Amino acid sequence: MIDISKQTVNLTCPECKRSISVSLRQVADELLVKCTCGQGIQLKDSNGTNRKGIHDVNKSFKDLENAFKKLGR
Ligand SMILES: [Zn+2]
Repeated sequence: MIDISKQTVNLTCPECKRSISVSLRQVADELLVKCTCGQGIQLKDSNGTNRKGIHDVNKSFKDLENAFKKLGR
């Protein structure tokens, strides 16, 4: 099963402008990630958008999976 929470997004460090890749799961969990320069970045999932997104998309994949299972019969 495909899990989009493992998808990554790129952030730009406010300090050194390096790009940091974080997973959608980390954003949904609002973790504090650290850049290689030592700058900590607090991830914010505004209004739980990512959490909801992950849930919705995972649900669609599940529906799709079920549809394929039916086809395979
Ligand atoms: Zn940095």
